[in-house]
Amino acid sequence: MKIGELTGDKGRTTGHQAVDGVIDHELSASPQNYELWLHYQNDWTPGLRNEIESYISETGHLDEQQTELLYDKYFNSSRFSAHVAQTGAKLASELTAALQALNQAGHRTEEFSGHLDDAAEKLEQSSLSPDKILEIVSKLSSATQQMSEQNAELTKKLEESSSEISDLREHLQTIRTEALTDALTGVANRKQFDNMLRFRTHEARNLGYPLTLAICDIDHFKSFNDTWGHQTGDQVIRFVAATLERLALKDHLVARYGGEEFAIIMPRVTAEEACGILERMRKAIEVKKLKRKSTGDSLGNVTMSFGAAELNDEDSCSTLIRRSDEQLYAAKRAGRNQVSVELQKETRAA
Ligand code: GH3
Ligand code: MG
Ligand code: MG
Repeated sequence: MKIGELTGDKGRTTGHQAVDGVIDHELSASPQNYELWLHYQNDWTPGLRNEIESYISETGHLDEQQTELLYDKYFNSSRFSAHVAQTGAKLASELTAALQALNQAGHRTEEFSGHLDDAAEKLEQSSLSPDKILEIVSKLSSATQQMSEQNAELTKKLEESSSEISDLREHLQTIRTEALTDALTGVANRKQFDNMLRFRTHEARNLGYPLTLAICDIDHFKSFNDTWGHQTGDQVIRFVAATLERLALKDHLVARYGGEEFAIIMPRVTAEEACGILERMRKAIEVKKLKRKSTGDSLGNVTMSFGAAELNDEDSCSTLIRRSDEQLYAAKRAGRNQVSVELQKETRAA
């Protein structure tokens, strides 16, 4: 945020314009929408202005779903870190409170044990009168009562802390899942892809399994967008993601790798075996008769090209990606709507 541009007269004008933008487009008065609008009208975030303008030029307006997607796409990471920081701070304060309660209980236990020692010592004296014994016993009884009440309080406090901590843990898990998911399609995002590829590469090497990486890209998608509009293009990207996910094996990971480009990490599958899976995906996309959701208009078909390569002993994650990408471009060069797989297999560690 450029704070300098938000102070003084200029700042007031900028603020009014953002408010007008949100009102003109009938968006809800959420802080996210104002933030989006400030960045849009001042062109503070590369790419955002073009994307908003292309939505507006197609449909004449923006809706809440689009602004939410745009917000996620452009401001997502800082929002997630703020959530994580807040949750972390709450966890820390819960733990501090629980520790304080435990420390206090520790002091009280010492005190109680002092009372017991004291009473035992006095009761050992043979010359004690019944009244004196009664006095010691009633002191002991009240200390015991107090200790038991304090322990019940401690148990309650610890139970509360434990339930609060488990809620916060679930909340962190949700944030973590969202941070690794692509907002438009619901499949893994680039970050999850990077993490998983690193993990699967190590796993394949350690356990001697094959690992194949496929990269695929919608054919002539620019002209599809030019003909039908960006919003309808988004629908197609969602359909493609869902198809890849439906046909991928259970432990394979489908990720949105870029705009209209996906990657599939395929553990325990050789390049030859991957060929069959990718062919099924290619056909399922090719045969689908697409329709515009809002009007039911027929949009024809889209096709997709696939490239894949298998991990070899010399590969790093980036060389594997490069070889899969080369296969994708071979599929494009050979006429699109096809699967190209690097078949010359290197020796794998057994
Ligand atoms: P090719 O067959 O060579 O892949 O041709 P292409 O037109 O698909 O390739 P190119 O890379 O030239 O264009 C990709 C287009 O994908 C550009 C952009 O309009 C579109 N695109 C990228 N991301 C998105 C997105 O999130 N939504 C929509 N609707 N379109 C997108
Ligand atoms: Mg393309
Ligand atoms: Mg592309």
